[in-house]
Amino acid sequence: MKKKLSLIFIFIFILSIVGCSRATTTTIKQTNPVKPTVVAAPVIKAKPIESAAIPGFDNTTDIKPYGKSIPVLEYHSISYEKGNPICIPIKKFEEQMKYLKDNGYYTITLTNLYEYLMNNTPIPRKSVVITFDDGYDNNYTAMFPILKKYKFKATIFVITSLTDVHSNMLTSKQLIEMDKSGIDIESHTVHHDNLKLISKDNQLKTLNQSKKYLEKTLNKTINFFAYPYGGYNKSAIESLKEAGYKMAFTTEKGWSSKKNGIFSLHRVWISASDSTKVFKSKISNPRID
Ligand SMILES: [Zn+2]
Repeated sequence: MKKKLSLIFIFIFILSIVGCSRATTTTIKQTNPVKPTVVAAPVIKAKPIESAAIPGFDNTTDIKPYGKSIPVLEYHSISYEKGNPICIPIKKFEEQMKYLKDNGYYTITLTNLYEYLMNNTPIPRKSVVITFDDGYDNNYTAMFPILKKYKFKATIFVITSLTDVHSNMLTSKQLIEMDKSGIDIESHTVHHDNLKLISKDNQLKTLNQSKKYLEKTLNKTINFFAYPYGGYNKSAIESLKEAGYKMAFTTEKGWSSKKNGIFSLHRVWISASDSTKVFKSKISNPRID
């Protein structure tokens, strides 16, 4: 009976992770993120992690002043579904990337962001980070060619239990190819777990298992994490540290700033309904997002 129930649960869960091709995306829609508990910024002695040069940036001109916030864009699916704000039509996504290119933005990596926030390593004044949650297959078919065209960097936080399992989600082959081509792959738990609702043991389990799977698949160290549903608490932050993660993102809206804590960084949510004017304000003004 127990086995039967868990099979039913897994089936319902998989049905909910179908990108924008069906209307049953409620499980992973971020439209009503769980309000996270406010946790004070942890005191961390930052160890530098593998540094990465920023192409075209000479570290001497047009440097972002130390201690400032950075827009970290939060996308999910690049596709069209009427009325679904997490599905950004490909044409709109391309326009947004073109805007960044035409206006001299640098797409820095999470390693660049971490080094700037923790060790004051210089980054360009017009820096932006691009992230995708969940790991939809359209990140490979629609997003990847556009980012390659503009030579842009980005990160995808993937749900590892769906890799090579669900037809709407990325395969390990796609993850490997993208990770080698400037699209950083990081963790979004094993089953899209809400860390705020599970025990410390289960937090550690999902954090360790997803990290291990990605490290084995991609042959690199996994350092970064995004909370499913934006759900976190003090115990989740402790678990992340114990599992060896260095930085994590919530779904709280705003630019990423060290004052929010390196394990509870805010992001700029991009909605399908954002006009070009709204997109411009979100990336140029830390007070609007
Ligand atoms: Zn998610």
